[in-house]
Amino acid sequence: MNILFEPVMALPAGDFDMFKACNDAPRNWTYKQQFYTVKNQMLLAYAAPAGFDKQIIKQSCWTCNGTGWYTSDSRCRSCYGDGVYQIRTYWLKRFVLNGELFHRPVEAAEVDGRIMNVINGLVHHDTPSVEPNFAYAHILKKYSPMEFPDFLREFRRRFDKADMKRWGEISAAINRKGGGIMDALQEWYGVKFDDLPF
Ligand SMILES: [Zn+2]
Repeated sequence: MNILFEPVMALPAGDFDMFKACNDAPRNWTYKQQFYTVKNQMLLAYAAPAGFDKQIIKQSCWTCNGTGWYTSDSRCRSCYGDGVYQIRTYWLKRFVLNGELFHRPVEAAEVDGRIMNVINGLVHHDTPSVEPNFAYAHILKKYSPMEFPDFLREFRRRFDKADMKRWGEISAAINRKGGGIMDALQEWYGVKFDDLPF
């Protein structure tokens, strides 16, 4: 039997931009850990594995602020003068999705392929191109729909009285226009139509 074409392992461009917005969200973003779960599932389903990277993170000594000196003429005793608190090594599995590289942390025992790069320090991320909360809602609803009701429940759990009133007004107005939950979330997070990748 002839294979006429290779299966295309890619997300639609708009969804990919939403995925990237979540991935580029700052480390302290509310849904960062939850997104990682979805991200890993999506990488396994849609991305091509591409070896491994080794990441080395050097933490400076807190006592001497990384200088190695406690005073101008005595060496720091916490780090024995090298200014380093600890050096940690992480293993990252590489995936190519829509032509771009993404990482998933793995245990050392899972490294069963070529080490492509050594990354010193943190991986650089761009500024998210779409408001990440809204992008996450979009990704979840489409790619992990079982989790979406939990997202909405948690979203509402954060509401205070004023939020509840505002959400009620937004939902009612969207309902009158015949829109759905994503339209309401878009309004809530202040995402303009021009900012959307689709
Ligand atoms: Zn020190």
